[in-house]
Amino acid sequence: MKKFAVFGNPIEQSLSPTIHQMFAEQCEEVISYEKILAPVDGFVEKASSFLAQPEVVGCNVTMPFKLDAFNMANIDDQAAQDAQAANTLMKCPDGSIKGFNTDGVGLVNDLLNNNVQLENKRVLLIGAGGAARGVISPLLEASVAQLIITNRTLEKAQQISAAVSNSNLDVVALDDIAAIKPHIIINSTAASLHQELPCHMSEALLDECEVVYDMVYKNSPTVFMQEAHKYGVKKRLDGLGMLVEQAAAAFSIWTGKQPKTNAIVNKVRELINNQ
Ligand code: NDP
Repeated sequence: MKKFAVFGNPIEQSLSPTIHQMFAEQCEEVISYEKILAPVDGFVEKASSFLAQPEVVGCNVTMPFKLDAFNMANIDDQAAQDAQAANTLMKCPDGSIKGFNTDGVGLVNDLLNNNVQLENKRVLLIGAGGAARGVISPLLEASVAQLIITNRTLEKAQQISAAVSNSNLDVVALDDIAAIKPHIIINSTAASLHQELPCHMSEALLDECEVVYDMVYKNSPTVFMQEAHKYGVKKRLDGLGMLVEQAAAAFSIWTGKQPKTNAIVNKVRELINNQ
């Protein structure tokens, strides 16, 4: 049996074991996949001893350990390199550990599954934490016309922009975002977890907006999605599809098999709605 786990703190809420068991069933793999709570300053030790077990193939890593995971692994993956964060670790035959970041491909695949065209669009990305860092390169590679980052703490957005250094990437202060007239707005902040808006929502900001995307997922629309609805934005997506797609990309790295995700997104949605 192939063994996997997800490490985080907190971790109890994680849907990853459920999602990966669904992938395994679909792809005829027999796996075990557990949730492991690591102490905030004890991830590397805990993950290393897990990965040393002979049956273990790899693990996922969530908040707040993606930077630690990046630092403990060999990184060939460009997305992880650009994000300076890893959410997927894999053990190589010689025992060394490789790190990947599948958050960005997860977001882009979910947008494509929902018929959101990225090419030539002006995209506003709100937030400058680990999730934002993970999606910047994949969004730029999807040929967006312009990617503009904003964040409550603007310096963090400026640091990301300086590190990535791409002529299609800009930084704008939260007070100035209405002038951008974005076609797509992606909320990569944790604001929705606290029932807060990440920015001031207005007619001026949203009058050309076709899609809003909130990386947070809940059993009802987030405040960000509700507010976009008020201003007439037709397509409003939450991060559940991204969660499943980033997991599918990790499963594919580990097993070489690409699970089909549509039905699984629906099943996980049902689980959340019944919580
Ligand atoms: P980080 O802690 O690294 O960053 C948090 C970000 O949210 C920062 O930009 C922070 O701003 C901002 N923020 C937090 N609270 C507020 C608020 N009340 N108002 C405005 N901005 C706020 O977290 P991550 O980037 O790793 O994760 C962010 C969110 O994305 C989480 O809610 C997580 O659940 C979700 N996520 C979803 C995924 C999915 O698959 N659907 C994958 C990864 C993450 P500041 O810098 O000013 O503090």
